[in-house]
Amino acid sequence: MSSRTPHGPVPDSAVLRARLERAREAAAGTGLLIAPGSDLRYLLGQAGGSLERLTTLVIPADGSPALVVPKLEAPGFADLPLAELGVEVVTWVDGDDPYGVAADRLRGSERVAVSDFTPALHVLALREALPKAEQVLAGPIVREFRMRKDAAEIEALRKAGAAIDRVHARVGEWLRPGRTEAEVGADIAAAIVEEGHVLADFVIVGSGPNGASPHHGVSDRVIESGDVVVVDIGGPVAEGYNSDSTRTYAVGEPRDADVAATYAVLRDAQQAAVDAVRPGVSAESIDAAARDVIAAAGFGEYFIHRTGHGIGLDVHEEPYIVSGNGLLLEPGMAFSVEPGLYQPGRWGARIEDIVVVTEDGVEPMNRRPHDLVVL
Ligand code: ZN
Ligand code: ZN
Ligand code: ZN
Repeated sequence: MSSRTPHGPVPDSAVLRARLERAREAAAGTGLLIAPGSDLRYLLGQAGGSLERLTTLVIPADGSPALVVPKLEAPGFADLPLAELGVEVVTWVDGDDPYGVAADRLRGSERVAVSDFTPALHVLALREALPKAEQVLAGPIVREFRMRKDAAEIEALRKAGAAIDRVHARVGEWLRPGRTEAEVGADIAAAIVEEGHVLADFVIVGSGPNGASPHHGVSDRVIESGDVVVVDIGGPVAEGYNSDSTRTYAVGEPRDADVAATYAVLRDAQQAAVDAVRPGVSAESIDAAARDVIAAAGFGEYFIHRTGHGIGLDVHEEPYIVSGNGLLLEPGMAFSVEPGLYQPGRWGARIEDIVVVTEDGVEPMNRRPHDLVVL
């Protein structure tokens, strides 16, 4: 969900029209109810806002799509080429029954698919408004088209990757002993915007023992000389596509004697996984490529998450690079490769790049060196 994503450039009407048509085809007779967020931004060029009032893009199996939107929210969609796209705008005011309005467009549907991140209050009200229709998740339908990025989407991911690389190049300006993680994180967040993102979506500065918690944010812990520090940062560029990159830093020579040897295994694992990426191999084989290197070194128990996640308009989306996912990679798929090793109570390390599957291999979106950065 990225309802916080500000307005940005809207793709060409021809692109959006093709996406709407593909959505209808992929739905194969199922009616679609698309909530505000990245699905809506993908299809209409605008994420909208997710509130207690119902906003939904209704795409019936037959007939034209309609944007059901509270009258007071409608101006937010006024810049979009909705008429050109054949999307009718249906406004409602407080006191109306917007669920009935949406349901009217889907009468006769045996199945309706709702966006994965539709608030439960809307899901249940829509179920009541369409008691005969089976409700399913729209995720498996929308992933079929959102997962394969077109040239413009990949260009936006390149731009995001280059922007976050510039931030990592500057981390030495801020990461010093005596400063708190929160202070360093605030400087990094400002730089994420300075270097070309519209906002800093997340900033992880995991110093010392905090580095062993993969989704640590920032804290008031004061950084000490000898700390290993995991810095995982990202945000969207104007087009809405996200960066997400991790590098691991050491503030002076690492205090723990096992850092260098462990880090070398991590670097090999990350490289092995990137090297394995090409069309026709499974998502889980990329996970295995990283995991096998780590297990062979005896560190399997310290790698406690999947190897990666898809990225695009959402920071986490399909395809997931995880054991059990037999999905075969195709050109245009974009995802992170981010193994990590976490020594509980002591330190952690992670290396994360975004990569895109090309016709015959892989293109990294991040190009900073993979070495432990000793400051
Ligand atoms: Zn994560
Ligand atoms: Zn990350
Ligand atoms: Zn990530």
